[in-house]
Amino acid sequence: MAEAPPRSGRAKFNRAALHAIDAIEPLKLRTGMPFWLIDGGRAPAVTPLDADLKVDVAVIGGGISGALVTDALLQAGLNVAVFDRAGFVRGSTPASTAMLQFEIDQPLSTLGQRIGLARAARAWWRSASGVTRLHARIADLGLRCDFRERHSAYLPGNVLDAAGLRCEAAARERIGLRSILIDRPTLKGFTGIDKPGAIWSAGSAEVDPAKLARGLWRSAAKRGAMLHAPVDIIDIAPGKRRVTLSTDTGHSISAGSVVLATGYALTKLLKPRGYRIISTWAMATPPQPEALWPSRCLIWEASDPYLYCRTTRDGRVVAGGEDAAFEDEAKRDTLIPTKVARIGRKLKRLLPTLDTAPAFAWAGCFGESSTGLPAIGEVPGAPRCYAVMGFGGNGITFSAIAAEMIQRAILGLPDPDADLFRLG
Ligand SMILES: Cc1cc2nc3c(=O)[nH]c(=O)nc-3n(C[C@H](O)[C@H](O)[C@H](O)COP(=O)(O)OP(=O)(O)OC[C@H]3O[C@@H](n4cnc5c(N)ncnc54)[C@H](O)[C@@H]3O)c2cc1C
Repeated sequence: MAEAPPRSGRAKFNRAALHAIDAIEPLKLRTGMPFWLIDGGRAPAVTPLDADLKVDVAVIGGGISGALVTDALLQAGLNVAVFDRAGFVRGSTPASTAMLQFEIDQPLSTLGQRIGLARAARAWWRSASGVTRLHARIADLGLRCDFRERHSAYLPGNVLDAAGLRCEAAARERIGLRSILIDRPTLKGFTGIDKPGAIWSAGSAEVDPAKLARGLWRSAAKRGAMLHAPVDIIDIAPGKRRVTLSTDTGHSISAGSVVLATGYALTKLLKPRGYRIISTWAMATPPQPEALWPSRCLIWEASDPYLYCRTTRDGRVVAGGEDAAFEDEAKRDTLIPTKVARIGRKLKRLLPTLDTAPAFAWAGCFGESSTGLPAIGEVPGAPRCYAVMGFGGNGITFSAIAAEMIQRAILGLPDPDADLFRLG
């Protein structure tokens, strides 16, 4: 049977949109105190821009997406300069709860109905290899970022009940993913949670997102990447052979290619259909290593709004969720105590022996797409300009995929999944 074409993530672009980059009101990406900022590792050496530049590739954005893309471009022997208007690792990245999952927000069984089974299988497998690739790269570079391989437990909820989970587990098994259905006693043994069962998967991980991004940037700087901040890119003009960027300081950068790794600001600029900015909340408990569940797996629910949690190296629980479909920053920030209290209560119901008092609480913008898939690739109508929209609960995994895809695109090499994630 012919596969249904993807019905979301479609966008209308034109090169005029890129000139309008200065008209985008900077988003307040996060507020409160993310746990990772107490010790996010050594900051990379960054300098202001004091001259015009000519480079192979200009990367805009000093978060995890920019860091992974820059690493991949350096691996290809390219000469790279990176710019951030707020400073490196100051955007959404340090607000992340950094569960590195191959499991996409949209269950495989429902994504298959929306975009066709074969495309859904490719998306899930690409996500699985994204986590593997990221693990390998962290090991190659010797980054000390509290990376730990973890299993994950996917609990029943109002999106998939016990029968829905059975169907989801069967769909995953058919395409060979490392997921199985576990029963109540097994779930209880792994997690202490009393529910009818769960999907238990191998191949996920956790990390400290600030240490990871800063480590990548320090490594990139050592290997010759030029890191500049604060530099606001206010205009992007794609020409016949090169792209010209203008900065708020009056400098000009001539680049063979440009990568927009500007995080959630991209939705404002490119206005893709099916992608939107919402609000999300997170908290970290005090350290309590003796009270944690035995497997220390990642835990998340098939619910909307959902609850998810993980542990940290010093024995805390980081939990989040309560996503709400608005982007009003003031409203988001006022709601921190209420939303975090609700996350704490839900966590207590799930794991009654935990101390669920918040030692850290924060809120942030969150980008989601209607399919749970990212948008990665060349901006239609703007040759040599590439964008990374690694939105959803797998943002970091998607950034790892984007690094590989954008490296290939800039080198003129094909990528088997370019059509799956393309913009427009
Ligand atoms: C609370 C929360 C929990 C999350 N949990 C998870 C999770 O468990 N797992 C997961 O994989 N993902 C998770 N995510 C998503 C993940 O954190 C994001 O996908 C990721 O951090 C985005 O990184 P980025 O580099 O694209 O964006 P950012 O880190 O925001 O970096 C973008 C940078 O671009 C700069 N910039 C923008 N415009 C310009 C311009 N014109 N000129 C110069 N600089 C510019 C900004 O200043 C910013 O520093 C979570 C996010 C949040 C908020």
